[in-house]
Amino acid sequence: MNLEHHFSMLGDMFSSKTVVQPLLEQRLVEFNQSLATFLFIDIKSSQTKRLLSGEDAAPHSLSMVYAGHQFGGFSPQLGDGRGVLLGEVRGQDSLLYDLHMKGAGPTPYSRRGDGRAVLRSCIREYLASEAMAALSIPTSRALGLYDSREAVYREQPEAGAMLLRVAQGHIRFGHFEYFFYQGKQDQLNELIDYCLEHYYPDSLKTDVPLENMLKEVVKRTARMIAKWQAVGFQHGVMNTDNFSFTGETLDYGPYGFMEDYEPDWVCNHSDYEGRYAFSRQPGIGLWNLNCLMKCFSKHLERDQLVAILQGYEVELQTHYDALMMVKLGLNSSKDVHTLLPPLFSILASEKMDYSVFFRLLSYSEKDGFSLLLDEVVDRQRLQSWLQDYQAARIAGCSDWQSVSESMTQVNPKFILRNYLAHSAILAAEQGDYLPFRRLLNVLASPFDEHPESDSLAQRVPEWGKSLEVSCSS
Ligand code: AMP
Ligand code: MG
Repeated sequence: MNLEHHFSMLGDMFSSKTVVQPLLEQRLVEFNQSLATFLFIDIKSSQTKRLLSGEDAAPHSLSMVYAGHQFGGFSPQLGDGRGVLLGEVRGQDSLLYDLHMKGAGPTPYSRRGDGRAVLRSCIREYLASEAMAALSIPTSRALGLYDSREAVYREQPEAGAMLLRVAQGHIRFGHFEYFFYQGKQDQLNELIDYCLEHYYPDSLKTDVPLENMLKEVVKRTARMIAKWQAVGFQHGVMNTDNFSFTGETLDYGPYGFMEDYEPDWVCNHSDYEGRYAFSRQPGIGLWNLNCLMKCFSKHLERDQLVAILQGYEVELQTHYDALMMVKLGLNSSKDVHTLLPPLFSILASEKMDYSVFFRLLSYSEKDGFSLLLDEVVDRQRLQSWLQDYQAARIAGCSDWQSVSESMTQVNPKFILRNYLAHSAILAAEQGDYLPFRRLLNVLASPFDEHPESDSLAQRVPEWGKSLEVSCSS
């Protein structure tokens, strides 16, 4: 493994030297071999294994300092309270990727926290990042999971664990806020140059590198959120310290994948006001970008910043429409605009499972949509919508078979249902990782049938409806 050290070169205004503190009797219980191959990491090398696990200290490992708007209020100093950046490695695509250990022990930014993560939250993050990647949503990835015999105290003692994760970058909107609000203009400029060089090199080729880079950040953020909305993903804690400057979904905590269609759904039980409700995510994305743009108010005129932000809504809407068009098997965004509002109204009043609906729509036209109609109480209302839908669908393309095939490639059969994650966690806490691996396996190719794992496509049973997730992890 060729570990490089780029971020650490920025110096101690940006981070603190921190090493991974291994857990008691820790074991590597899951390893993402295909990701490792992509990153030229050979886990069979004992030197690599020891470096990744923290048994040998990585020579320039660090924790980053940043700030952030949390639930609307500004926290001037946060930082990696339980994360350590080991360094960067180059992937097969020649890009650099961060290797970051979460739950690695206390850092100078731990505040009152213990710097640790519990097995439960590491498994949740592992599953979510791999599920999102398989759904083609930009995300941090999971490379390895370490469990241990160390007790970590939350509401009760739990098993401590660490998650080795990979992302193009761990620079957050909050990084810029930290330097801006501290009036550290030189460091802000250094960070801008660092991001241009490492993440947005094409912007350097233009006459207006900063402006160009910020437009690109707006675009990436808009597309990421459009994808969340199309698939029914809710992040749960869209604070600016959890928002990546490279447009990747980052920091999986109390996230959720929508089951019964409910636009105002709030997956995070600590989010009492519903600030980060599913339907609010696009607006919050803009709010966060607005926070980010403020950090460049000494670099660019107000009008320029406003113009950059104006790119957001169009990008998000266009991308979302395109995604929904494919999900519906339609050929025109006009049809999407006509058909989606009444469909969402039906799904909401029927409390229909979002993913099941689109999956069934993908293959039930040939039997007169009987599978879909069996799902609802008001058959007539859905039937009427299906007639309009079918007319639009046929006008767009008469080859149902090929449309059906392409729809099944975008409408997953398997999504990460909370009760499934819960069951996998309970088993893992007893040392049985089989349910976790079975689930991971279907989530890695969620559009395939996997007949042997049909049960993992089933909707939440009664016992799973009362499960709650919150920020405590
Ligand atoms: P999150 O909402 O998980 O992204 O965390 C918000 C902030 O709290 C970040 O600065 C984290 O590093 C920090 N944090 C979360 N959990 C812990 C912990 N157990 N120990 C120390 N810091 C933590
Ligand atoms: Mg965070």
